Amino acid sequence: MWDFSTEPEFEAKLAWMRDFMVAEVYPLEALEGIEEADFDRLLEPLREQVKDQGLWAGHLPPEHGGQGFGALELGLMNEITGASIFGPMVFGSQAPDAGNAELLAAAGTDDQKARWLEPLLAGEVKSAFSMTEPNSAGSDPTLLRTVATQVDGGWKIDGLKWFTSNGSAADFLIAMVVTDPEAAPRSRATMMLVPTDAEGLRIVRDVPTMEDPVGERGRFRAGGFGHAEISYEGVFVPDADVLGPVGQGFAMAQRRLGPGRIQHCMRWLGQGRRAFEMLCERAVSRHAFGTTLGEKGVVREWIADSAAEIEAARLMTLHAAWKIDRVGAKEARQEIGMIKYYGAGVLYRVIDRAIQVHGGLGYSTDMPLESMYRNARAARIYDGADEVHRDNVARRILAAYQPREVPTENVPERRRAAAEKFAELIDVASLDL
Ligand SMILES: Cc1cc2nc3c(=O)[nH]c(=O)nc-3n(C[C@H](O)[C@H](O)[C@H](O)COP(=O)(O)OP(=O)(O)OC[C@H]3O[C@@H](n4cnc5c(N)ncnc54)[C@H](O)[C@@H]3O)c2cc1C
Repeated sequence: MWDFSTEPEFEAKLAWMRDFMVAEVYPLEALEGIEEADFDRLLEPLREQVKDQGLWAGHLPPEHGGQGFGALELGLMNEITGASIFGPMVFGSQAPDAGNAELLAAAGTDDQKARWLEPLLAGEVKSAFSMTEPNSAGSDPTLLRTVATQVDGGWKIDGLKWFTSNGSAADFLIAMVVTDPEAAPRSRATMMLVPTDAEGLRIVRDVPTMEDPVGERGRFRAGGFGHAEISYEGVFVPDADVLGPVGQGFAMAQRRLGPGRIQHCMRWLGQGRRAFEMLCERAVSRHAFGTTLGEKGVVREWIADSAAEIEAARLMTLHAAWKIDRVGAKEARQEIGMIKYYGAGVLYRVIDRAIQVHGGLGYSTDMPLESMYRNARAARIYDGADEVHRDNVARRILAAYQPREVPTENVPERRRAAAEKFAELIDVASLDL
């Protein structure tokens, strides 16, 4: 049976994290838009406290500086850190660095780990994951166009990527590029480590988004340090910087995204719960037309629905984490897929209701809700759009079913057979067969 309980020592750590988040991390939110250099200086002393507690980069195994927490424990930690956009940054578990570090830890050579993973874990460098392209469907990575052509001693990359989160602030990228256009669709691509100062690599711009309509570089926003458009023109990558086996890029991307989604979903739950608390507080505080808002039927409905949806999403996510710990991420693909779209939807709906209850105040930047809302909208697109995950989940479910014709013309016969089977218990004569 499922068991989501953890050891008392770990519970004590979670309690420390909750207090620390409220006292030290939530106040940082007023500084959204802060410059990168100030951001790093501001977070440094907080990160030291996290390290002293043994909670830094919890997603990694101990041999790489992590604590060896399982998926369930990591989920519970992310629920707490995710309540604020600054939380994951303070705990060294932010996307995309966390997923990139996991990839390097799993597939990197000793030299790659020394050069990229160690400084990444120490918080000395930033990284980005460069897969999506503007001119090929991001949802279907088999359509990628950015190619790496084999040359003496390595590869040359040509192409255009975009939405590389943190790309313009990153020191290095993990680029997903086509190495064999003729291979089977899922064996075409390879991951390569590319320093952002490599010759031929150009950050074209930070794509202006709902997070940052101006696309101003080098400032920390709800979604990190922007989403870069990056041009690769003959960028040389030595063989030593190929990450994992050539042609295994898709398989590695799946491994990276699977457990990472649990952490995303738990972060969303932390955000959703915080929005829910604001919703409830406002409902009991604000009066209109003779009652508090919390006495209006529609607001009560939002509160009840939000509570149920958060609870359902939490149980689904913890269950997926529990299953990963038991049987591995591959066996838990269905659960991971379901929480990705279900969790993103819950986050979006709860924040939307919280904004509505706050009226103009909710829409203003005086509250963190509008920033949460921008993030929540993106959650339904990144790491696989809702529709793609739904499609995969339904495909797996349907794979267990065989076509079968419903024997409608035999209804009288089935009725007679059932009557005979239960003849000792019912009055067959009354059935009009
Ligand atoms: C905030 C943010 C951060 C991101 N960070 C990164 C990053 O760090 N690195 C990176 O490489 N990429 C990143 N992305 C890109 C992201 O992964 C893609 O946007 C996503 O995979 C969708 O690809 P697309 O934008 O090309 O949309 P498309 O593939 O063009 O899809 C558009 C829409 O088509 C519909 N659709 C697609 N397939 C199906 C289907 N099978 N059934 C039904 N409907 C379907 C969906 O509604 C989907 O939203 C980020 C995106 C956002 C918004």
